[in-house]
Amino acid sequence: MKQFKTESKKLLDLMINSIYTNKEIFLRELISNASDALDKLSFLAVKNPDMKVDQDSLAIRLSFDKDARTITVSDNGIGMTQEELDKNLGTIAHSGSEQFKEENAEHQGDQMDIIGQFGVGFYSAFMVASKVRVVSRAYGADQAYAWESDGEKGYTIEPAGPGERDGADDHGTDITLYLRPSTEQDNTDQYLSEWELKELVKKYSNYVRHPIRMMVTKSRQKPAPDPKPDDYKPEYEDYQELETINSMTPIWKKRSSDVDQKDYNEFYKATFHDYADPARTISFHAEGALSYDALLFIPSVQPFDLYSKDYQKGLALYCDNVLIQEKCEDLVPDYYNFVRGIVDSPDVKLNISRETLQQNAQLRAIARRVEKKITSELQDMRDNDRENYQKFFENFGRGLKFGIYTTYGGKADELADLLLFWSAKQGKQITFKEYVDAMADGQDKIYYVAGESRERLEVMPQVRSAVEHGYDVLVCTQDVDEFMFQVMRSYHVDAVAGDSEHKGTDAKDYELTNVTNADLDFATEDEKKQAEEASEKNKDLFDGLKEALDGKVDDVKVAPGLGDAPAAVSSEGPVSLQMERVIAQGPEGDKAPKAHRVLQLNAAHPVFGKLVAAQESGDKDRLKLYGHILYDQALLVAGMPIDDPVKFAEDVTKLM
Ligand code: ADP
Repeated sequence: MKQFKTESKKLLDLMINSIYTNKEIFLRELISNASDALDKLSFLAVKNPDMKVDQDSLAIRLSFDKDARTITVSDNGIGMTQEELDKNLGTIAHSGSEQFKEENAEHQGDQMDIIGQFGVGFYSAFMVASKVRVVSRAYGADQAYAWESDGEKGYTIEPAGPGERDGADDHGTDITLYLRPSTEQDNTDQYLSEWELKELVKKYSNYVRHPIRMMVTKSRQKPAPDPKPDDYKPEYEDYQELETINSMTPIWKKRSSDVDQKDYNEFYKATFHDYADPARTISFHAEGALSYDALLFIPSVQPFDLYSKDYQKGLALYCDNVLIQEKCEDLVPDYYNFVRGIVDSPDVKLNISRETLQQNAQLRAIARRVEKKITSELQDMRDNDRENYQKFFENFGRGLKFGIYTTYGGKADELADLLLFWSAKQGKQITFKEYVDAMADGQDKIYYVAGESRERLEVMPQVRSAVEHGYDVLVCTQDVDEFMFQVMRSYHVDAVAGDSEHKGTDAKDYELTNVTNADLDFATEDEKKQAEEASEKNKDLFDGLKEALDGKVDDVKVAPGLGDAPAAVSSEGPVSLQMERVIAQGPEGDKAPKAHRVLQLNAAHPVFGKLVAAQESGDKDRLKLYGHILYDQALLVAGMPIDDPVKFAEDVTKLM
């Protein structure tokens, strides 16, 4: 028996004793090797026409034996000589495994992920097998050899036995895995099933160029006897048939003009387990120094687990039709986590084996293009298919907003124009740009209001006042909205060059402003004057109310332009009431910063007269009662919780 080389031994140990869960990739590895062996032979044959290789006969054969607990992967490719068996399977001097070893030296902890990402080839068989027998006959050789090993001590190489590739010109390789006993943790029995093997091929090797064939059991109706008896019931029998179980031509390599949308839809649904057709399909190809094919889908329905911790973003990464990684996270940014798809690049693998950094640079280059493509597809949908874009935005818009928030506004340039908001004035969803385009002359801010329900927000005094005075308000009901506005601060509009027909415009930043901000008013000059007078005259009233409200508000003011509302609650400074509420619901809720609350009074409302009267009569109890009721009802109107609903009810009763 020959011993494995030291480094091979180390690798084998890692492999066998790995806690790596994705053991099923062994099949992908063996199939890829078989496919390579077919390619090599096919390449030779093309160069030497007298070799007489029937290209159409090149195939991979998959079989299993339930009783013997074996799986066999066969190919009629180039095969290996005795020396090659020794060199190729006895040492670790080949690309994938070498890479694995290098990676492994650097990251002792997470080495097992690397198997999944890059593949370590033939040795992965030992993850599921306690013994592997390789029978191989090199093309043109007249004898087959058998390599056998338990993956521990070493291996043997002997001439193959009778019946093992001893037919005329029976070149190629059979790799037989003797499966380890099945345990609870390590279910190897699962591989001894037609269905499971088919699934694994579909999952990992569906687009291998060569046919992967397997005997499958099918059922058919037996021929009816002639003449048919009256009580004839059809009978069925099982039969075996050799079937090609992979699809061979990757749909992502085709130009989109050559593919029916129907086929994309079917592929999408089968591959990504969705029941609905995608909203958009994006197919693109790059050639040159870095070549790849990409096929991306924007789903039309939200995956049920999109906002759960378990959701994993990423695109499937293929290298030459072979799945390298099911969800390559680096290929899509978080805010496009809903995008599903495939990137296939022959160059990725080439560079993996050279240098990991280089590999990252390649992935980054692909990722940049992927991101741009998604953005422009969404822009197109926004401009040309608004109805579906609204559906898209309902499903995935929150993620885009988080994209701006979590990048501290860094991605605002790219994402802000993809956002939709409900417009209080126009009664439909609009973009920032549409808001700005419809703005009155001289308006230099974008107004918004944030809270839980659109209906409530639209009737808030400040919102009504803004709209009545000609300003639109974006009505925001998602928790992230206001936090996003805070990191964005403003919406930027680029300068537009003028021409002979149109006047150009300068670049401009429109500050994003909460309409319930206490410093704001939309009032006319008259209204302002009236409010100022009332403020001057009633300083004592404000102090009295502030005292009566006992720390609940930081300030009491007269506000012009509250319409027919007697009062409103607003805030000053960076934390709004809505933000306070959102933070309070979070994990650190008790430490949440408080909004600086301001009770705004409408001096034009009859209630104001009552307050003044109570103050002037020195009736402190009455003033306190009025103050509390006004404050609580203003909170209710704003959709905010009141501190003590029982007390509020008592106060109202007292008043009646
Ligand atoms: P890698 O494929 O990354 O080179 P493997 O460990 O998978 O590493 O395989 C080692 C070598 O064994 C391959 O490079 C190839 O030369 C040879 N080999 C493996 N499987 C086959 C096969 N089915 N037919 C011919 N040669 C094979």
